[in-house]
Amino acid sequence: MKTCDVLIVGGGPAGLSVASSLADNISSIIVHQDMEIGKPVRTSGGSFLKDMERLCPNQDIYQVIDKLDYFSDNAEARFDVETDKMVILDVTKLYKHLASLSDDKPRELLLGTKYINTVEEDGFYTSTLRLRDGEKQQVKSKYIIDASGWHCAVTAPLGLVEKPERLGIGTEYEFVQKDYPMNRAILFVGSHVLSGYGWVFPTNYGTVRLGVGVIKPDTDDSPRDVMQSLLDSGFLDKLGVKVPEDYEVNSGILPSEPFDQNVVFGNIIRVGDSANCATPVAGEGIRIAIEQGRALGTLLTEAIRTNSPRPLDYFEKAYAAKYARDYRIGFWANQRIARYTPADWDKSVKRLAKMDEVQMTELLRSRFSLKSILRTVILHLKRKLFG
Ligand SMILES: Cc1cc2nc3c(=O)[nH]c(=O)nc-3n(C[C@H](O)[C@H](O)[C@H](O)COP(=O)(O)OP(=O)(O)OC[C@H]3O[C@@H](n4cnc5c(N)ncnc54)[C@H](O)[C@@H]3O)c2cc1C
Repeated sequence: MKTCDVLIVGGGPAGLSVASSLADNISSIIVHQDMEIGKPVRTSGGSFLKDMERLCPNQDIYQVIDKLDYFSDNAEARFDVETDKMVILDVTKLYKHLASLSDDKPRELLLGTKYINTVEEDGFYTSTLRLRDGEKQQVKSKYIIDASGWHCAVTAPLGLVEKPERLGIGTEYEFVQKDYPMNRAILFVGSHVLSGYGWVFPTNYGTVRLGVGVIKPDTDDSPRDVMQSLLDSGFLDKLGVKVPEDYEVNSGILPSEPFDQNVVFGNIIRVGDSANCATPVAGEGIRIAIEQGRALGTLLTEAIRTNSPRPLDYFEKAYAAKYARDYRIGFWANQRIARYTPADWDKSVKRLAKMDEVQMTELLRSRFSLKSILRTVILHLKRKLFG
């Protein structure tokens, strides 16, 4: 039996960020089912320069993007981005950096180890893990953090949350394309990726990531089939993308559910994708997982120091205050666009082309100011009245 103050299930950005922001006198164990931090890659790594400069300063972990082009079947919108530039992250390097931030703390990292279940007794949790050699290990802890992503490995089996049913599933081919402009990202929609979207993201280590994501159960198509028909379609010529014979395949899953502000269940807390943290419009969750993970680590330290649940109540309320409104609007939009036809997408990309770069980025970030909502309502009414 091992003991620690905090058992963290999942070594993605959320779990790693909780560990690194716990105080030095609090012991933690991270249990991570993969054999290596940041591998395999299960995300495409689009984020924003301002956030990454703030969250991970002085790290050579991203490619800066200042051209962002959108394509549908018959429309396009091209943006030169100055104000809020995107970046494409070197996901493995970022996650390894996040892990290194708790190397000097009393934290143990168990790789290739799967959390199985937990029982509570006298205010402590005894959790069973399966180690990489197949042996079982028990861990006694006062707190458990569910940072297991869409698996909700702790909270769902305990009946604290429902396992997500609506899921974004993505597949990505990563390859070298020498003549691709490395400051340009592409997002594409329409008949090639109905009920989802596709992307072309260049990295800072010379590769291009071509991905497609779909939402289940909104469509029966698998991302692999969608990718194959995209490759066969000739549409990639229009984007200036050439897929060579050899490429690496990355794939991943994230929840796409309505916002739920319940994240604290006594001494079990969920964070990151297990709390459905990714933005509803674009599914961008890495920076939010880091931010929420760090906030939780700091407030959990305070809860342990004062032996009071109040800091965790504050964590939950602050989380809702920051995201609830935007995520509810964004989820409504997400469900709507999941039903778009190719003609709807053409109209939508034409509308996008009329936006300035700031409005476009706010939409991508799922941030909805009152002004932009009013503008959308007026446009909608105009279309209803005048066609
Ligand atoms: C196809 C795709 C594209 C995406 N693109 C972007 C993007 O461009 N930009 C962006 O910001 N976000 C993107 N996201 C979302 C982003 O990846 C997530 O929001 C982010 O990874 C959430 O971090 P997390 O730490 O909560 O969960 P995860 O990164 O999912 O990490 C959880 C970890 O827990 C481990 N785990 C699960 N169950 C157990 C268990 N029982 N025992 C031990 N370990 C366990 C898993 O192996 C996993 O590694 C994308 C997601 C997908 C699927």
